[in-house]
Amino acid sequence: MSERLYYTDSYLRKFRALVTGRSADGRRIYLDRTAFYPASGGQPHDTGSIAGVPVVEVEDEGERIAHVVAAAVDGDEVDCRIDWERRFDHMQQHSGQHLLSAVFVERFGVATVSFHLGQESSTIDLETGTLDPARVLEAERRANQVVCENRPLAVSFEDAAETRDLRKPSERAGTLRVVSIEGLDRSACGGTHVARTGEIGPILLRKLERIRNTTRVEFLCGGRAVGRARADFDALSRVAQMVSGSLDEAPGLVAAQFEAARNADKLRRKLEADLAQYQGRELYSATAPDEAGVRRVLRRQPSGNLEDLRAIAQSFTAQAKAVFVAALDEPPALLLAVSADSGVDAGKVLKAALTQAGGRGGGNQRMAQGSLPSREALEQVLGQIRTS
Ligand SMILES: [Zn+2]
Repeated sequence: MSERLYYTDSYLRKFRALVTGRSADGRRIYLDRTAFYPASGGQPHDTGSIAGVPVVEVEDEGERIAHVVAAAVDGDEVDCRIDWERRFDHMQQHSGQHLLSAVFVERFGVATVSFHLGQESSTIDLETGTLDPARVLEAERRANQVVCENRPLAVSFEDAAETRDLRKPSERAGTLRVVSIEGLDRSACGGTHVARTGEIGPILLRKLERIRNTTRVEFLCGGRAVGRARADFDALSRVAQMVSGSLDEAPGLVAAQFEAARNADKLRRKLEADLAQYQGRELYSATAPDEAGVRRVLRRQPSGNLEDLRAIAQSFTAQAKAVFVAALDEPPALLLAVSADSGVDAGKVLKAALTQAGGRGGGNQRMAQGSLPSREALEQVLGQIRTS
């Protein structure tokens, strides 16, 4: 049986204990008393050291607490030390969670169904599918108000059968450990907590996420809230700098930039289409007609995209007696466009040639497009089209 020192003193960082057991490989240590908190109730385990050897994990085995150490520990009586920075951070987040959950009940009658203390932020799942953003603001304001009131938190041990007014009824029998925030909350909990609400520090609510019939609320307390606000400020400052404005002006300026970019893109597409029109017409007047009076053009491209040539092909074949062929070497592909009076059915001609060469594609009378399995197949189709 390990005496849990953290039950009555969450501020104990150093203690001396007797080793009451160890695993065969010496990596699991059992003590007669411990201030190391094992992972439980949403709160992660402590770290620290036993006789100078790092404690990497702490597990609750029921009667005993196992301290998983990085190397074997010598001696029967050991000096132990808790990583206080990590522990205090956990205390801030966990006490902040009790406070926040209590506020959601006090203000809106919404219960908390689960709690997770994460590495960067924590979450509570509220028993509601919808949470008005105004309520989130109100809960944040009220929680921070209670922080400023610096109310005491107390731990008491009560008989489960006689305990009253718990925020959430406990299913445990026997002795309950009850953590209370004066005038606001009483919860059965085995976690480590701060002594007064002021130590929780600022409470910041962030992302809301609907998960089935619950709403997950992300929150940060104390040092984490300040660190996050600093990171947010830095990120927003970079954005503001990019748009040469103040932080408060940044969202409006960014929106204006997006609008300008959309308009520029629209204009660019129009100019590209105009240019293709012009190029197609110029190519037509620069091309001499053959004996049949048809103007034929072959455009070859080593790589890229035939889409770029579609508009030129369209413009070229908008004039009388015109045939436009575009070929792409890699990946092998082909485009055939013809004028209405060319006497050629682009879809039929290309389809027939593609089928023979093992390619795929098709189109209509005026324009058709296809892809081929190899360069040889491409040459074969080109040869066939030229003679048709
Ligand atoms: Zn708790």
